[in-house]
Amino acid sequence: MDLGIKGRKAIVCAASKGLGYGCAAELADAGVDLVINARSDDILHEAAENLRTKGVDVVAVAGDITTADVQAAVVEAAGTPDILVNNAGGPPPGLWSDWGREDFIKALDANMLTPIMLMKACLPGMMDRGWGRVVNITSQSVKSPIPVLGLSNSARAGLTGFVAGTSRQVAPYGVTINNLLPGIHATDRADGLDGGVARQQGITIEQVREQRYATIPARRYGTKEEFGAACAFLCSRYAGFIVGQNILLDGGSVNSTL
Ligand code: NAP
Repeated sequence: MDLGIKGRKAIVCAASKGLGYGCAAELADAGVDLVINARSDDILHEAAENLRTKGVDVVAVAGDITTADVQAAVVEAAGTPDILVNNAGGPPPGLWSDWGREDFIKALDANMLTPIMLMKACLPGMMDRGWGRVVNITSQSVKSPIPVLGLSNSARAGLTGFVAGTSRQVAPYGVTINNLLPGIHATDRADGLDGGVARQQGITIEQVREQRYATIPARRYGTKEEFGAACAFLCSRYAGFIVGQNILLDGGSVNSTL
């Protein structure tokens, strides 16, 4: 399907691996030129090389996206971005009683304030040009809290509130903002969390996965390709009437009617 965005320019944050890379790859398949970012220079450049084979321009900006310098660098590299995909690493697991102020500040920086700052940088230009797409990668924890991911539950709820209001303010200018809420997807992040459970329970990582598959109606983890395709659709010319939504990609895990 031609998504009608060939030649558009996108910033995809935290995109050398996992869900961010999945989004970058599907946008590249739709003919979108990319600025991608991640901290590890070598893995990021390898990802950029792979994406260039799809025939699009790819600029790689290495660095921590939670810093103001790197945020400014990705925006500058894009020039006039039409599409912004916000993403960053997720906070570590733990217990509500473990975390102090600094832990919350770090989580808020990565999973709430960084996407907000990047939106503030990109939205005015998109509104002037009368077209824009923002997709924030958040989490199913926004709809159904995950007890060991309290930092994520908190920070992403703040971003969700910002998007709910702001998306309605920019929609008159042809700019949409939506959130994609991943359930469990097969990425390094999921491996890391499963590895922690395996160590804690004294079982293998395969056994942890079998236990988790049993809790997902689709009986498997999602893939970064499926996730990226949903992101690319939200960035497409056909998604202009989807405004301020929180779309779960979770294989049916969150058990709710609406
Ligand atoms: P992943 O496989 O671990 O990939 C994370 C990507 O982000 C890598 O490219 C990593 O590269 C980059 N990154 C991390 N922190 C960064 C930073 N501060 N600045 C720039 N780049 C950064 O993770 P994922 O599974 O794709 O998860 C992406 C997001 O979705 C996370 O916030 C995660 O919590 C959330 N999520 C994931 C799942 C899941 O099941 N996978 C479910 C719900 C929510 P470098 O390390 O080189 O920087």
